[in-house]
Amino acid sequence: MSTESLRIVWIYPDLLSTYGDRGNALILARRARQRGFPVEVLEVRSDQRLPSTADIYLIGGGEDGPQALGAQRLLADGGLHRAVAQGSVVFGVCAGYQLLGTSFFAKGTRCAGLELLDFSSDRGPTRAVGELAGEIDPRLGVPALTGFENHGGRTHLGPGVSPLARVTAGVGNDGATEGAWRGKLLGTYSHGPALARNPALADLLLRWATGAHQLPPLDDTWPDRLRAERRAAVAAARA
Ligand code: GLN
Repeated sequence: MSTESLRIVWIYPDLLSTYGDRGNALILARRARQRGFPVEVLEVRSDQRLPSTADIYLIGGGEDGPQALGAQRLLADGGLHRAVAQGSVVFGVCAGYQLLGTSFFAKGTRCAGLELLDFSSDRGPTRAVGELAGEIDPRLGVPALTGFENHGGRTHLGPGVSPLARVTAGVGNDGATEGAWRGKLLGTYSHGPALARNPALADLLLRWATGAHQLPPLDDTWPDRLRAERRAAVAAARA
């Protein structure tokens, strides 16, 4: 942690917040406070400079126009690159995931990404809409991913990143893998408040940010019930 409190920055809520992405900041803040970490949450709009000293940066989903604008502003700002060079954690969702790569498509045009992770995105034959589930990379020690996806892009991973998960339902990157991670940067197509539905993923980000090897367990009865319910629904739909 860079200061006495854990600093979480929610990047550009005015552009990239299509699916209740604020939920990820709320979940991280709550789970950190429950473990005794003081937390500061900063919402940085696209007309403001991005501080480069925060511990965790969150980038949400968005439609093509705001996604392209968000990427341009982040490139011009440079704050996120400085933060990553200093070891900050980044969590990107859908549009916010795609723009971490080398390039992505928006409104029929190839747009420059931030080149923080080794992948690029193009357009798929259809829009991927529906339940998304996958077995997460065992090195991350996180149980199966569950979520919802709604995107036109497909993401192609290069050798410099690992897939976050192997897809068991839905499309994710390309129908086989879902999301990507390297170091303390992680992206997923699991939409909006993905961390509400995947609390162990929230705790992974908190462990990366605080350097804690383990965090005291919390009562996750409700998210566990929701996860079980959605997994059963996906299994029933396939049967
Ligand atoms: N505009 C991007 C796409 O359709 C991202 C969409 C999103 O964030 N849901 O692929």
